[in-house]
Amino acid sequence: MSIVRCAVKSLTSSVEKQCWALKSTAGLNILPFDMTVESIHKMNWSQMEKCAIDTVQFEDVSLLPLFDRRPDKILGIGLNYRDHLEEQRVPLEKYPQEPVVFNKFASTVICHGETIKHPTVTNSLDYELELAVIMGAGGRHIKEAKAIEHVFGYTIANDITARDWQKTRNNKQWILGKSMDTFCPLGPAIVSKEVIAEPHNLDISCSVNGEVRQSSNTKMLLFKIPQLISYISSLITLLPGDVILTGTPGGVGAFRDPPQFLQPGDTVKCTIEHIGELENTVEMET
Ligand code: MG
Repeated sequence: MSIVRCAVKSLTSSVEKQCWALKSTAGLNILPFDMTVESIHKMNWSQMEKCAIDTVQFEDVSLLPLFDRRPDKILGIGLNYRDHLEEQRVPLEKYPQEPVVFNKFASTVICHGETIKHPTVTNSLDYELELAVIMGAGGRHIKEAKAIEHVFGYTIANDITARDWQKTRNNKQWILGKSMDTFCPLGPAIVSKEVIAEPHNLDISCSVNGEVRQSSNTKMLLFKIPQLISYISSLITLLPGDVILTGTPGGVGAFRDPPQFLQPGDTVKCTIEHIGELENTVEMET
C-alpha cells in the first residue's frame, strides 16, 4: 500500500477537494481533508487506515502532484552511485569525501504522466533516475542513528538536467541546468518507510522508449540515506515535505558512447522496486 494525493468531489457539492489517500488494489481510502505531511508522519499504517473517511474507486478521482504545497527544499546529491562514478572514470582517490549537495527549485516538480518540457536553449537534455526521500519530522543536527525516524517515505524522481547548462553555461553553477521548468518528475506515490524497511537494497531502472538505459540497485549508493540526512541537517534545517534526491546510477545519456540525449516524443520510465513506475513524455517547449 502507498499514499497518493487526489482530488475528489464531495457528496454535498460538485466542488473538488484535495486530500491524501491510501492506495490499494481495492481503491483509495480517503484520509481526512485537513491532514498534512506532519500529521501523517505521526501515524503508522493501521492508524491511517482507521482514520480513513471514505473509500472511492480510481475512476472517481483525479490524481494530483504528491504535495499539498510545494516543498520548501528539493536537494539533489551529485556523484553518489559507485557505477555512476565508474562511468565517469573518477579514480577511487577522487571519490567525494562528503556528499555533493545541490538544489532544484520547487517549481520544477511535475507528477506521473505530466509532460517534460524540452527547453529550446539546450541540446543535451538528460534523465537521472533517483530514489527520493520525503522528510516527515524534519529537524536540525539529526544524528545518523535517528535519521530514518525523520523520514516520511520514499518516491521516485527523475532529476532532469540540461547538461550543457550544468557543465559549461552559467559559469558552471548547476542551478539553472537542474531547475528549468518541469525538470523534476516525482511520483507516482509516496511509499511509507514502514513498507520499505531497507531502502538500500532496491532494484532501480530507467528506460527511454522501452530501451533500458539505467539498471542498478540502491546498494551502490556511496553516502547512504542516514548519512545524507545527518550531513544536510548539520548545515540546514530540514522541514516536513522536503525532498532529497539521493543520486543517480550509471547509464545517463551524457556518458553513453555516443551520448544519447532526450528528444521530443521520447517516453522516460523510471522504476524502483516496491515503489512503482514514474512515466513522463518529452515535448518541445513552445
Ligand atoms: Mg541527480
